[in-house]
Amino acid sequence: MKIIAIGRNYAAHIEELQNEKPTEPVVFLKPDTALLKNNEPFYHPEFSENIHHEVELVLKIKKEGKYIDPKFARNYYNEIGIGIDFTARDLQQKCKEKGLPWEIAKAFNGSAPIGEFRPIANYPDVANISFHLDVNGERRQTGNTSLLLFSFDVILAYVSQFFTLKTGDLIFTGTPAGVGKVAIGDRLEAYVEQEKLLDFEVK
Ligand code: MG
Repeated sequence: MKIIAIGRNYAAHIEELQNEKPTEPVVFLKPDTALLKNNEPFYHPEFSENIHHEVELVLKIKKEGKYIDPKFARNYYNEIGIGIDFTARDLQQKCKEKGLPWEIAKAFNGSAPIGEFRPIANYPDVANISFHLDVNGERRQTGNTSLLLFSFDVILAYVSQFFTLKTGDLIFTGTPAGVGKVAIGDRLEAYVEQEKLLDFEVK
């Protein structure tokens, strides 16, 4: 399986990092070794002193497809969950300055913790799903799909031009504002609507 991730998909987050608003989705990949499941702890890597949390809604692909028409994109995902796109911001900054790819800053071991998934049918309006992240019991990030620059269907159609989507692939759909540094000992709890689907510690 593969993990496809979308960057710069919420305006307030683009502003906090002083990035440019994209005209097309910003896409990168993570390998399956980035996954952390079952609330396993995240071991803070030694190569970075500034690992940021980015809470994101995650779509699970239910059937193979490529060159998907946005009109039919909804038929290709049936579950939604929540995850963290951990980012070594210090390494990413160096990569950006040199115009180099981001993988070492975004796709390292354990950089994609995911929680439980739920049928997307549980949420009556896909364009109005709220989610949030608490760190040590304090609200750090709050998002809602009504604020997405590129909708789920547009993202799916766009990425499927380049990568055949396969059953079980995951799409991280972008983070809202409020990203910040994590430290050893932190506890991260992520919610879709009011349901906690992810809960783990940084070790
Ligand atoms: Mg992200």
